[in-house]
Amino acid sequence: LPRAAGGALQHSDTVSRLVQTLRVKMVLLGSSGVGKSSLASRFGRDEFRSTSPTVGCAYLTQVVHLNDVTLRFEIWDTAGQEKYHSVTPLYYRGAHVALLVYDITQRETFLRAQVWLRELEKQYIPGSTVIWLVGNKGDLAHDRKVSAQEGQSLASNGGLYFTETSALSGDQVNELLQSVAHRVYECIGAQQG
Ligand code: GDP
Repeated sequence: LPRAAGGALQHSDTVSRLVQTLRVKMVLLGSSGVGKSSLASRFGRDEFRSTSPTVGCAYLTQVVHLNDVTLRFEIWDTAGQEKYHSVTPLYYRGAHVALLVYDITQRETFLRAQVWLRELEKQYIPGSTVIWLVGNKGDLAHDRKVSAQEGQSLASNGGLYFTETSALSGDQVNELLQSVAHRVYECIGAQQG
C-alpha cells in the first residue's frame, strides 16, 4: 500500500474486479433438418449468415457470464453444407464445443449422429473438446422414434453429454447453453491447473 504524507497506510475502498473474457468456438453438427439453424438462432445474435460456397456457414454470438469469467460464444452453423458433402475440417478447427444434433422423430438422424461422431473423432480436436449430444424436437414427443434412454446411453458410451431440447418451444435451450458454459469453464480451469 502507498504511504501517505503522515506515514499512515492508505486504503482504497474501491475493489476492482478483473473480468476475463474467453472466446468459445461452438460448432453445430447433424443431419439436415434436425434443427441446427433453429437452435443457433435461439442461442445467439445473428452476426453473419452466408451460404456462399467459400464460407458455407452461419456465425452467431452470445455472451454468458459465469462467476468471474465472461464466455463469448462464437456459434457456427453449417447452413446446409452437410447436404452436399461432409463438413470441411476448417469448420471443426479450434472448436471448444461440438453440438451433435439429431431429431428425436427421425431415427436415421440419430444413426447419422453416430457417423458424425466418428468423423468428429477423426478430425484434429483437442482432448478437451466438449461434445454434446442434442436430441431436438422434444415437443414432438407423440412422434418420437428415439427414446431419451437411447440418447443417454449413446452419450454415456461415448463420453459425451446429453440433453433433449425443443428449438420450437425453447424448452431446455437456455439450460443447454448454461450447462455447456459450465462444462467449458471447468475444462479451462482444469487446463490451467
Ligand atoms: P437444420 O437444417 O438442421 O439447420 O434445421 P432447421 O433449423 O432449418 O429446421 C428444420 C425444420 O425443423 C424447420 O421447419 C424448423 O422450423 C423445424 N424445427 C426445428 N427445431 C424444431 C423443434 O424443436 N420442434 C419442431 N416441431 N420443429 C422444429
